[in-house]
Amino acid sequence: MQDYNYLNGNCLEITMELSCCKFPLASELKKEWDNNRESLIAYLEQVHIGVRGYVKEATNGTALPDVRIMVAGINHNLTTAQFGDYYRLLLPGTYNVSVIATGYMSMTVVGVQVVEGKATELNFTLAPLGNEPTGGITVPFTPTTTTAGPITTSDPDSTSIETSSTTSEMGTSGANESSTPQEHQPIQPQDFRHHHYNDMELFLRRYSNGFRSIAHLYSIGKSAEDRELYVMVISDNPTVHEPGEPEFKYIANMHGNEVVGRELLLNLIEYLCRNYGSDPEVTQLVNTTRIHIMPSMNPDGYEIAREGDVRGYTGRNNSNNFDLNRNFPDQFTTITEPRQPETIAVMNWLKSNPFVLSANLHGGSLVVNYPYDDDKQGRTEYSKCPDDKVFKQVARAYSQENALMHKGHPCEDLYRSEFFEDGITNGANWYNVPGGMQDWNYLNTNCFEVTIELGCVKYPKAQQLPLYWDQNRRALLQYIQQVHRGVKGMVIDIKDGTGIPNATITVEEIDHQITTNLAGDYWRLLVPGTYHLTASAQGYNSVKIYATVPEEGVELVDFRLTRVRSDPNGQAPMDPRATQDPAEEVFQSFIKDLSLGQGLEQLVQSTVTESSFRYRRYKELSEFLRGLTFNFPKITSLHSLGQSVEYRTIWALEISNKPDEPETAEPKIRLVGGIHGNAPVGTELLLEFAAFLCINYGKNPIITRLINETRIVILPSINPDGRELAREKQCTSTVGMTNTHGKDLDTDFFGNASQRLVEAQPETRAVMDLILERGFTLSVALDGGSLLATYPYDKPVQPVENEETLKYLANVYARNHPKMHLGDTGCPSNDQMGNIPDGVLRAAERQSHMGSMKDFSVDFGHCPEITVYTGCCLFPPAVQLATLWAENRKALLSMLVEVHKGVRGVVKDKSGKPIVGAMIVLNGGVRVFTAEGGYFHALLAPGNHNIEAVADGYQQQRQEVVVSSYEAASSIIIEFDMDNRIFGLPREFVVATAAASMTALVVTACIIWCVCSAKSNQQKDGFHRLRQHRDDYEDEIRLTSMGSKKSLLSNEFQDESESDEDTLYANADKL
Ligand SMILES: [Zn+2]
Repeated sequence: MQDYNYLNGNCLEITMELSCCKFPLASELKKEWDNNRESLIAYLEQVHIGVRGYVKEATNGTALPDVRIMVAGINHNLTTAQFGDYYRLLLPGTYNVSVIATGYMSMTVVGVQVVEGKATELNFTLAPLGNEPTGGITVPFTPTTTTAGPITTSDPDSTSIETSSTTSEMGTSGANESSTPQEHQPIQPQDFRHHHYNDMELFLRRYSNGFRSIAHLYSIGKSAEDRELYVMVISDNPTVHEPGEPEFKYIANMHGNEVVGRELLLNLIEYLCRNYGSDPEVTQLVNTTRIHIMPSMNPDGYEIAREGDVRGYTGRNNSNNFDLNRNFPDQFTTITEPRQPETIAVMNWLKSNPFVLSANLHGGSLVVNYPYDDDKQGRTEYSKCPDDKVFKQVARAYSQENALMHKGHPCEDLYRSEFFEDGITNGANWYNVPGGMQDWNYLNTNCFEVTIELGCVKYPKAQQLPLYWDQNRRALLQYIQQVHRGVKGMVIDIKDGTGIPNATITVEEIDHQITTNLAGDYWRLLVPGTYHLTASAQGYNSVKIYATVPEEGVELVDFRLTRVRSDPNGQAPMDPRATQDPAEEVFQSFIKDLSLGQGLEQLVQSTVTESSFRYRRYKELSEFLRGLTFNFPKITSLHSLGQSVEYRTIWALEISNKPDEPETAEPKIRLVGGIHGNAPVGTELLLEFAAFLCINYGKNPIITRLINETRIVILPSINPDGRELAREKQCTSTVGMTNTHGKDLDTDFFGNASQRLVEAQPETRAVMDLILERGFTLSVALDGGSLLATYPYDKPVQPVENEETLKYLANVYARNHPKMHLGDTGCPSNDQMGNIPDGVLRAAERQSHMGSMKDFSVDFGHCPEITVYTGCCLFPPAVQLATLWAENRKALLSMLVEVHKGVRGVVKDKSGKPIVGAMIVLNGGVRVFTAEGGYFHALLAPGNHNIEAVADGYQQQRQEVVVSSYEAASSIIIEFDMDNRIFGLPREFVVATAAASMTALVVTACIIWCVCSAKSNQQKDGFHRLRQHRDDYEDEIRLTSMGSKKSLLSNEFQDESESDEDTLYANADKL
């Protein structure tokens, strides 16, 4: 094996004989370990000796794999790996290292110093071979500059290489006239032909692979016939939105038979890729803009369209025969035709990217058409949108660069009288298009879109294509430049400098708002002039600024907003960051990073799952859970909640940094699977999630932090008996749905004894007991049979009090699931409706029933619970588990982040003593109670909320809080004064006065009683009887008044044993 390694791989291997005895006694293993430990580690360290580095391509920085690495004097060559990386083990000394790659100028670095220990880093950048004479270059080794390559222009050696580097790496263009910079000519596209789907796919793949540092291919979904809706994004960092860099898009071939745009966009991809790094305009555009290019929005229609079609309709619509440019929601007309997969994909794409400017390329005329496309009456007349001036400006920017379009007589052969001044037109002024894409862009996103008609012939012959490129190439580039006009900047929190997402930018006298992105960055396209701009955000004071938009370029305007502070009444919205210590601020930014932008996505990317996915029945499940507690004893703890009918244990696994301590200051999340034994996907996802958390603990700082700050309780299977009966690949079978007694456990949760006819099932009892322990902040139940998230109630009729919060939580899950939020439950076989907005539904609307677990959790556990349906098939084949895990991992993690939001705090009395069992009333409805230490934590939808704290014997406290969708709940402290406002007087005074009055009253009563009894003894005649009656009456008055005072006071004392706040109010009313 060792020789094979050396001769056929890049690996050096030796063979070690460890001991004379081949299979020693187990008791010897410890000794063997001691003997070899240091040697194993020392050997491992040898992998770092010698020379190591990367080999890259000079024009675009692409890694070069399979490049030969040669060391002079050693007849053994290595090659670079996938990322252009190499490791050449060498003993200390001085070496000459060469790299040789086909199609590139070879390079030798002389005098490379290798020292003891850590490898010398040596990177190479290779220039492609152009027309220059072949040959290599030799550079001296400089330890300070570890990169060898044609980098600096001052280096005389590199002059010739610089010139050659403008040659395309793909080598198809030999036309590069090794020119001087002044005569620079961009490389023109070569590939002029019609590309059918497969051909287009190959073209896109070829460019995304060839220009990896600037081009990235992705798909936004599939067409009705399952073709990918491809988008090529071209930018200096193509895979991410860079705050401050605008997003631009081109969409073509929305009408399948209008094909010029499709080919022009492929030409544009070729042009941008090939000229990046050599052409200043292209390089600047790509470096400062993220350009998304979708060559075909209707790939199905294209496949049936015919070359030579001038004004036909074959292939115009998608394969379900709907016109996609009449398929978007409209502001004036209700579009009744079913929304098509292509339309839905584009709508979702627009919602998830902060596009600023866009064009939608068509054919059949020659004009730029801008919003609105229709009006209320459906008349053909100008339908002006608030940004009419901006649209005219960007439309002209295109038409002016297209000589023919600019003249304004589009298709003289076809429509003789048509004239468009400057080659542009308002949409409705031309003809009405309800349900169009451009208006939807403008009305529903921050993106401004126009529709460009590229020529009178919809599907011209291939030989015409170079002409179209010539006519449009300047215009296509100029139009992208328009994204850099107007005003741009950031809206940030003045205190910590972080961006504020979803803040609105309003321009005075233009009735169209723009919102900030997740990082707080925004763009407001405007024509030159002076404007009054206002930035507003929830929980902040608005800021107004005057800004002047220059004739050329963009004006930079940043807004710094301050949090809303106390008002004079002292009832201020709490500043979520006002009362916290530095550690809490660090945690705030931790949660914010995970909630915004790519935070969660990056976490998912940075953690690995290594698992052979399979279904685990009860025995294996129990072993798996025990295995976790053996391997991760410090962060796990396994409890039995009870047993099923057939005596299987209902397990609860707690994952926390202190699993057996209450840690009441931390939020607690419950994850429940397998309530229906025939839908065991949730069970497997939760087992996988548990293992994922444990394995990444201490390894991934974010997971570690989440576990340290959260108490996670996982109930993977609460119906283990049913699970034993269920069978794999049964997508709709009800076998195993119920427990052994035939009871659907999700109809067995009753808190109210009067509703219960028979004793609860043992499984239900076990889970109810856990729920009734309270202290949970959030619960997520996993089930199957659909693809959506539901929130309480399951029971019919009434909506739940905190519906907004529960719906928000379900939305967070669905949004973090790649498919769920699209709202296509996709279950043709059962009762599911097709289209559910955001993939979120009130449970009763799906299938209403009594006795559900989440209703119980909300009503009796004071804990919000949502149910997630992971997929249509109840028991899909095991091979699908890996996909299901990939789909749900981010969403499950989002719940661990979400549980830290809302409002939390401590309730104390004036002396600082925490008050346990104080009631926190949220918005006058939902209640939670303080735990040990006086802690409480309640989730709330983003927005302003009222919370009231009520505790026996204390004056009720009320506070307003602002809850954000991306910030952790900051700790608020609710301090109760002793109830010191009885009768509007200090409590001490009242108590003293009351005591004094009581004494006085008792004394008075005694005196009266003595006097009266003396009198009645002395006088027994009728007159005196009357008198006595009067005295009795007066006594009665006195006693009544005394009694009433007594009862007032006693009420006051009673209050201390009665939590009903109404009593307090009632007394105040009486007073
Ligand atoms: Zn069209």
